[in-house]
Amino acid sequence: MKTIDQFNFSGKKALIRVDFNVPLDDDYNITDDNRITAALPTIKKILEDGGSVILMSHLGRPKDGPTDKYSLKHVVKHLGDLLGQPVEFANDCIGDEAINKSKALKDGQVLLLENLRFYKEEEKGDKDFAEKLSKLGDIYVNDAFGTAHRAHASTAVIAQFFPNAKYFGYVMAAEIANAEKILNHAEKPFTAIMGGSKVSDKIQLIEKLLDKVDNLIIGGGMAYTFAKADGGSIGTSLVEIDKLDLALDIVKKAKEKGVKLYLPVDNVIADAFSNDANTNTAKTGQIPDGWMGLDIGPETVAIFSKVVAESKTILWNGPMGVFEMEKFLIGTKAIANAVVEATKKGAFSLIGGGDSAAAVSKFNLTDDVSYVSTGGGALLEYMEGKELPGVKAINE
Ligand code: AMP
Repeated sequence: MKTIDQFNFSGKKALIRVDFNVPLDDDYNITDDNRITAALPTIKKILEDGGSVILMSHLGRPKDGPTDKYSLKHVVKHLGDLLGQPVEFANDCIGDEAINKSKALKDGQVLLLENLRFYKEEEKGDKDFAEKLSKLGDIYVNDAFGTAHRAHASTAVIAQFFPNAKYFGYVMAAEIANAEKILNHAEKPFTAIMGGSKVSDKIQLIEKLLDKVDNLIIGGGMAYTFAKADGGSIGTSLVEIDKLDLALDIVKKAKEKGVKLYLPVDNVIADAFSNDANTNTAKTGQIPDGWMGLDIGPETVAIFSKVVAESKTILWNGPMGVFEMEKFLIGTKAIANAVVEATKKGAFSLIGGGDSAAAVSKFNLTDDVSYVSTGGGALLEYMEGKELPGVKAINE
């Protein structure tokens, strides 16, 4: 793997694609800075080598060009505090200001460019736009795993302008190494915990995992598609009615392959999708009309936790319930604790990005699991066996 460890950046300008797509509150305070702290080791290595750093990222999904709400200027101060040095900012990611500020950058200094997605060319993977960006640095470093599954200008297309000067940063290297460990070197028993809203989003990964895992735990909203397929009453729970056959197929394949499949046996139900709703518990398949399952129930928590506790490798992707609401976070929290306990006993635990990472962070358990991925969709695609454009562009 071509990582930044193979290069001394002394006197060089490193153009780094980072993922600073962090959540901001209404006053533009960063509410979760995990993605920024994740990039610090890469930035520091280059600065300590005696190089300078030009950072480029996207933030949010701006539709019509520059918008204050999506400006990366909101990140400058916090980044400076974390690095312990001032950070320069260019109000445009291309053009004269970016060129002049990048030229003026001295060894040891840091420049952050304005949101790449203020140009529609970024997501289109426009070659001319990528070439303009490429002029800002001597070496290209990709450390944005969260967007590695996209063939955007700054994540993949740009690499062709650095044929002999492109490297993975530490985030990318760690993400790939950990995903490979899970896929190819998992110590047994290997348990995958899948949750979240839709089975359709995760079907390819589930199918792939059926060849690898000993236990497959399914919770969250997607479990109701399985309950419905089994002929149960699910009230107004989330369901993908066109995926009932798919659910039955997963059950069948798990049996054929000797994978133990665990589905919820009971559920926390509510009479509305609200933290103020009335709640109760119901056995799986026996949810009354007008009620919906929003979390796994206590019996299920006990069963799932025991399986997790006895595992040596754990992959977790997707919450067990609507963990954003206090009333429905118990199942997700219990599973997070079970993963932590297993990790303490020596298991390797990888938390897939997105909502599972948000849940673990909400419970302050990020440091108590083996690795929390910074990529939701990117991790899923990598694990499904797809070649990510951002990875390919550095490797070829
Ligand atoms: P995903 O993005 O597919 O991983 O799904 C994550 C989302 O699924 C979270 O926002 C959860 O609130 C939601 N979720 C989990 N369990 C349920 C459920 N039983 N009913 C509705 N939504 C759920």
